[in-house]
Amino acid sequence: MAETLTNWAGNITYSAKELHRPRSVDALRALVAESARVRVLGSGHSFNEIAEPGPDGVLVSLTALPPAVDVDTTSRTARVSGGVRYAELARTVHEHGFALHNMASLPHISVAGSVATGTHGSGVTNGSLGSAVREVELVTADGSTVTIGRGDDRFDGAVTSLGALGAVTALTLDLEPDFGVSQHVFTELPLEGLDFETVAATAYSVSLFTDWGRPGFRQVWLKRRTDQPLPDFPWAAPATEAMHPVPGMPPRNCTRQLGVPGPWHERLPHFRAEFTPSSGAELQSEYLLPRSAALSALHALDAIRDTIAPVLQICEVRTVAADRQWLSPAYGRDSVALHFTWVEDTAAVLPVVRRVEEALEPFAPRPHWGKVFTVPSEILRGRYPRLGDFRALVASLDPAGKFTNAFVGNVLQPLS
Ligand SMILES: Cc1cc2nc3c(=O)[nH]c(=O)nc-3n(C[C@H](O)[C@H](O)[C@H](O)COP(=O)(O)OP(=O)(O)OC[C@H]3O[C@@H](n4cnc5c(N)ncnc54)[C@H](O)[C@@H]3O)c2cc1C
Repeated sequence: MAETLTNWAGNITYSAKELHRPRSVDALRALVAESARVRVLGSGHSFNEIAEPGPDGVLVSLTALPPAVDVDTTSRTARVSGGVRYAELARTVHEHGFALHNMASLPHISVAGSVATGTHGSGVTNGSLGSAVREVELVTADGSTVTIGRGDDRFDGAVTSLGALGAVTALTLDLEPDFGVSQHVFTELPLEGLDFETVAATAYSVSLFTDWGRPGFRQVWLKRRTDQPLPDFPWAAPATEAMHPVPGMPPRNCTRQLGVPGPWHERLPHFRAEFTPSSGAELQSEYLLPRSAALSALHALDAIRDTIAPVLQICEVRTVAADRQWLSPAYGRDSVALHFTWVEDTAAVLPVVRRVEEALEPFAPRPHWGKVFTVPSEILRGRYPRLGDFRALVASLDPAGKFTNAFVGNVLQPLS
């Protein structure tokens, strides 16, 4: 029977009538070799058509592959198979006495899908999640297997790949020694007089939240490593109870706050693995721009807050350290990430997304690959200086464009 396949948010219905779930890498290789067009679906947490296979395409899930999380304590790495989510990876890594350097706001997302879109957490010294990857194993268009590791000329195109190089069957990630984190929430941080650089660097990971209903930030979340001193935070008042970033939502979905120390994987995400994350009914957009422009960009958003606020659930401001992945939104620049959780109403949200993009245009924003954006592809292409190298990499691994859908095709077009 035909399935109706949608993304997590339900705003995208994939045209494929069936989700193929091969049980072995060999079965996947055969499926890829015999299909004309293929896209792999991760956990479906993207908000746009990045995973859409097209009308004649095959949509594949890797969740039925044997789920491997192999920790190598000598090389301090974890090899994780293509369908595994951060929740399972983090638990196993922690059990072995190790840690990942960072996590996104929720652990429910697949590792392969996250690094393919440049997914990130926060922290001025923390690169995107993909910056921990040291090796990528792929099934490519002709059904053969290819491994691309750090040191290979192709590596800087292989992690943030938008799914265009093949099906990622495994990733090997760098680990760090286990560490603890305590989470401290503060309320009502003014925008006027904000020293963004100082505030963003007060803890290992810092997030600012606002609903743009009035100037300034409703909440600031500091995630402090317990091996680092408690930061001074004189600019806002400490919260006296646990909070959810979205006004009116119950804090029980969120990771422990109020300074209670805990393991890294139970504090770095905002949302707990055992609960439905975030508010559920939503759309998201996010733009990465140079961190040095953070304050000007925040004032530009403040100037249109009457337009933003009516369709916004919450806006989050994070930082991401520069990385070297050719298609990473943080490529080559220490970045500030301006995130918007919108109401679940595409028609009402899209005009506001356009206004936000106009306001941020002077700062050359790069949209998150997995979220809603309207930036024209010719402008987008100009924001990625190594796009030509990525195009050549796609052509070498997949000359017929088997893994290139309409979304990726727009990105890959040569500059006119
Ligand atoms: C509630 C919520 C919170 C979020 N929080 C954050 C956050 O804190 N930070 C952030 O940066 N983003 C965040 N995101 C965005 C999310 O991290 C990205 O959309 C990410 O791509 C999700 O991974 P996925 O497996 O669901 O990807 P999917 O949407 O399933 O796929 C994304 C892309 O990856 C490709 N892909 C997936 N798996 C494979 C594979 N094995 N081989 C080849 N290609 C593959 C797909 O083809 C597609 O192109 C959030 C999203 C939601 C819904």
